[in-house]
Amino acid sequence: MDTASSPVRRPTLREWKFSVVEAFDVTPRMRRVALSADDIDELEYRPGQALVMQMPLPEGGTGRRDYTIRSFDKAAKRLEVDFVLHGDSPAPTWARNATAGDEIVTRGPRGRTVFNPSADWHLLCGDETCIPAILHIVENMPAGTRAFAFIEVSGAEDEQKLTTRADAKIEWIHRDGAHAGPSSIMLDRIASFAFPAGDGFAYLIGETSNVRAQRHHLTARGFTRDRISSEGYWRPGRIGGHDHIED
Ligand SMILES: Cc1cc2nc3c(=O)[nH]c(=O)nc-3n(C[C@H](O)[C@H](O)[C@H](O)COP(=O)(O)OP(=O)(O)OC[C@H]3O[C@@H](n4cnc5c(N)ncnc54)[C@H](O)[C@@H]3O)c2cc1C
Repeated sequence: MDTASSPVRRPTLREWKFSVVEAFDVTPRMRRVALSADDIDELEYRPGQALVMQMPLPEGGTGRRDYTIRSFDKAAKRLEVDFVLHGDSPAPTWARNATAGDEIVTRGPRGRTVFNPSADWHLLCGDETCIPAILHIVENMPAGTRAFAFIEVSGAEDEQKLTTRADAKIEWIHRDGAHAGPSSIMLDRIASFAFPAGDGFAYLIGETSNVRAQRHHLTARGFTRDRISSEGYWRPGRIGGHDHIED
């Protein structure tokens, strides 16, 4: 379901007026923008949550785009957001050109893709748009937490390192240069994943049709819906926003 047309009234999210501190490439297709604001130390969020950013549009005005908080150092008043450089659309264009002092209005934080402490083990799956969420969640898991992360990227040059006290296995799945989008590459990996003993919790994010197929696969293998958090982050032809996947 498209949230833009949802009849459910959502609480108004707080507005943040950020300034760019610096911007640089983390990997060839991922640009990090560091942001700050006078009141940024009042920001409370859970790893995995996102900000809705008012991106300048080529025709004038702004459009909403969701971007995950990749890291936040409250003491340093520095928040980082990572942008996949997937093309010439508004968000990557803004990130490519961002320089110190540029201003960007955002609202948030929002999102339900956050750590579920009740599970014995955690399965996190997503494409490159989900690297910020998956890595930030895993980095902040309690020591010893059993986690399996499958991350679909174009190639080895898109992989990133992380530090965590969790018992986490990060597996990078390469498309070998193929474009991101609807495909069974992640579904195939999940299908060959033998579930550990105990209660699992799955975090499925990324391209909407892929997430939906993965969710259906997990429920067919006995996962109850309350053990899956799923959200479509993007899909071909869709402009901004996100898709709820609850069927
Ligand atoms: C909760 C949430 C958190 C997110 N966090 C991040 C994040 O941290 N980093 C990040 O990079 N993205 C993230 N995304 C995805 C991002 O919001 C979308 O990719 C968004 O559409 C990008 O805006 P745009 O201006 O580039 O493209 P749009 O103007 O929205 O779309 C233009 C065209 O590009 C296509 N498109 C959009 N995204 C992609 C893509 N990734 N690959 C290929 N084609 C695409 C669209 O389908 C459309 O055809 C997140 C999404 C959600 C819902």
